[in-house]
Amino acid sequence: TIGMLAVDPNGNMAAGASTNGLQFKIPGRVADSALVGSGAYVDNEVGGACATGDGDVMQRFVPSYHAVQLMRQGTAPDEACSDAIARIAKFYANFTGAVLALGKDGRHGAACHGMNSFPYSVMQQGWKDPQIVQIPCL
Ligand code: ASP
Repeated sequence: TIGMLAVDPNGNMAAGASTNGLQFKIPGRVADSALVGSGAYVDNEVGGACATGDGDVMQRFVPSYHAVQLMRQGTAPDEACSDAIARIAKFYANFTGAVLALGKDGRHGAACHGMNSFPYSVMQQGWKDPQIVQIPCL
């Protein structure tokens, strides 16, 4: 999956997710990436989030919406992602996945599970190269 979150200079946000489809996927499988709130979600007043990983598990928890709703209540992006991931891990201890979030104010964060660490990149106007952020997983 490629998930992207963006905020423009006017504070308008966008989110998107694409998927290669999970390995050995069932023909006709939709998966999480195409489902609003699961693969990606934006609330233009708050921020956005996107998810990658075991979509058949993750889509049951609408993790992108979950993270954005927590941010609406004041939770920082990294903590919002951790909460969304922990909620899934509580029921599926072996799942692999990550949730990323970007606030309207530019703060960002992520959380992951089932790997040692997870990288994501951040790019900002005026920067020559993206910054790679590597986070340890829960
Ligand atoms: N979430 C994707 C899917 O289940 C897979 C991925 O994130 O790599 O299709």
